[in-house]
Amino acid sequence: MHEFSLAIDLVEQLKEVVTREKATKVVEINVVIGALSGVERVPFEFAFPQAAQDTPLEGAVLIIEEVPLILKCSDCNRETETDDLIMVCPECNSVSVEIVQGKEFLIKSMEVQ
Ligand SMILES: [Zn+2]
Repeated sequence: MHEFSLAIDLVEQLKEVVTREKATKVVEINVVIGALSGVERVPFEFAFPQAAQDTPLEGAVLIIEEVPLILKCSDCNRETETDDLIMVCPECNSVSVEIVQGKEFLIKSMEVQ
C-alpha cells in the first residue's frame, strides 16, 4: 500500500523535527492532502497510527485537510475549483490550464510536547 510508505516517510521526517526541537512527543499533526496528490485519505488515516507505533508520534492526533483542485486558465484567466480531475477549464473548456492547488501532500503544522 502506497499510503503506508508515505506514512512511514512522514513519521521519519517528524522524528527528526522532534529531535531538533528537543521535544518528547508529537501531540497533533495537520496534514494537507490535495485532490490530485495521489494520496487517499482513508488508507492514510489507517496507515498513520501503524507507522507511528513505538515512535514519539504514537498517539498523535492526525488532522487531515483535503484541498480541492484549483485550475487557472490562461485563455479566460479564471481560477476555478473543480471536482473533475481533468485538466480542462470548466468555464471555457480550454486545455491551457495550470494547477494552482491540488498536488499538495504536506505537513501544515504540528504540535510537540
Ligand atoms: Zn478558461
